[in-house]
Formats: sequence, C-alpha cells, structure tokens
Amino acid sequence: MLKAVEPGHNNRLADRINLIIVGKGYQNMNEFLTTMNRDLGFDGLEKLNPESLDKLLFGLFAIEPFKSQRSKFNLWYYPEQLQSKSPEEFLQQNRDNPGSSAKDFGLPFATYLFFVNPVESPQSFAYPSNVPPGVAPVKSAFVFGSATVTRYPNVADGVSVVAHELGHSIFNLRDEYVRTGPDVGDKYGHNIARTQAEARQLWGSVETQVDPFYYTWKEKMIANSLWIDSSNPLFVQYDAKQGIDIYTWYPNEEEIKVGYLQGGGVTTTGISWRPTKTSLMNNEDVRNKSWPKFPPVFGSANRRVMQSVLDLYSGK
Ligand SMILES: [Zn+2]
Repeated sequence: MLKAVEPGHNNRLADRINLIIVGKGYQNMNEFLTTMNRDLGFDGLEKLNPESLDKLLFGLFAIEPFKSQRSKFNLWYYPEQLQSKSPEEFLQQNRDNPGSSAKDFGLPFATYLFFVNPVESPQSFAYPSNVPPGVAPVKSAFVFGSATVTRYPNVADGVSVVAHELGHSIFNLRDEYVRTGPDVGDKYGHNIARTQAEARQLWGSVETQVDPFYYTWKEKMIANSLWIDSSNPLFVQYDAKQGIDIYTWYPNEEEIKVGYLQGGGVTTTGISWRPTKTSLMNNEDVRNKSWPKFPPVFGSANRRVMQSVLDLYSGK
C-alpha cells in the first residue's frame, strides 16, 4: 500500500535503507507531496528560492552523503495523511505491534520520516537509531529510528532540518548544540565525547579533515552572491544588555575542520567535546554572540560515521 516517491527509483528487493514518509496536517495530499518533494530535492540540485530567507535551498539529496548515495535508499510515502492519529500511534500500529509480515510494511531496514504542518506540532525531533559509537557497525543489528520534521507548505526556510533529523534517526548522530540545558540523558555518542581522550578515539582518524562538501556548498553560495565571508562578517544587532555588536558569517575552513572543541550535546555541565566549531548537527543559529551560521555540511567526523553505515548497503 506504500507508494514510490519517485517512479522507477525503488527496488523492493534491493539491499537498501527503506525511508517511509508520512504526512500530517496539510490541506490535502497534494500539498503534503509538494512540500515533501521540495524538501527531499530528489534530483540532487540545490534550488533558488528568492522568497525565502535562505535563498538557496539544499534539500536532503542536495546534501552529501545523501546526494551521491541516493541509490542506497528506497523512498516510499504513505498514501493517506494521518488524521487524528499521531506519528507515535502510527509507529505503534505499523512498527511495534503488527504481525511480523506486516511490520514496517514488510520492508527491511525501515526508517520513518513524518512531515507535519507546524500548525499541528511545533518542533522537529527524532528518535535515534542504535548504531553504536566507537565500534564497527553490524548491519544485522541495525534498528533505525524515526524523525518528525515540522515544515510549512509555503515557507521553505530551514530545509536542511530534514538531513539533520535523519542524522539522528538513521546514523545515531548527536546534537552539537553548544548551549547548556536540562540533562536529557544519552547525549554522548559518535560526535559528542565525555573527554578529549574519548574524542580522539571516536574521530581521531579524520582529525584536520574538511568535509569536501564544504567546498561544493561554498562555491554555490559564492556563485549566487550569497556568501558571507568571516573576513567581512554581517552585522546582526547591537546587544544592549552585553554592550556588544553581534556579527555572523558562514563558517571558514578552520571552523569546519575536524579537531576537538569543547561543548556540544546540550549538557547541564557544558563539559563535552565535539568535532567541529559548527556543522549540520549544530543546526542552531546562535544569536547572543558573534558566531558562524550553521552550514548544510555534516563535517568529516559525521561523514565518517554515515559512510560506515552506508557502505554496508550495495544499493542493488
Ligand atoms: Zn537534533
């Protein structure tokens, strides 16, 4: 009963990850599908969108590693929107409690992506997969999670949230937010370490590397006259409380180069280590100090984890 997002792309029998997409809260099926297709960017191309603040949209498949490894995914959508049912209830019914042949619609390596009109639900979030940090991943043990993205049909800004949430739900990456907050538990992982020694174990193999997609993205931003260089940052506002001017810019090479940076993971103590100053898993603009905008770039430490999972699928 699931339908193919892109005619001719899916192969039910192929060795792939099955992404099942479900809509909720849109005026009709067509509005949901239009929103979904805009944000997936299946053709792999970034899109100019002058009405948006972002101007240039990097949908899921315009971002690496999704862009070059589209063949590792089957893309399905559920042919009806959820009405009164919540995403959690849908998961209960189709993932947790069905007969074994009906589980995940009979698809192996399934992961769910809910598109919800923000009128219905305010915040994007994800249940992470179980890909364990620090050891070679074992395919047969994978249980992928689910993600909910809140996306307006008529506002395209923030499209890279889809890739961010799949970073959690498929690859078990952690948030690299530097703010401190309530202890929500389980915040350490592939890209958030308790100590610098642990950080070296987790991502030491890609130390000093720059995600090649950074250069691709930067070139496209420059070509569209959208680049804000750190040497000439953009004035945001005067912060009267702190008595300082606040600036922003797009990250320079150093700020996306893998190293060992303190903070990240929303900790109560603020004691943690992350691989890069900013990245797509740091999908949060900091406004109370001068800081680079987050890019649609995962960074080499996260890319290493993602690749180690994707390498286990032939796509055929
Ligand atoms: Zn997140």
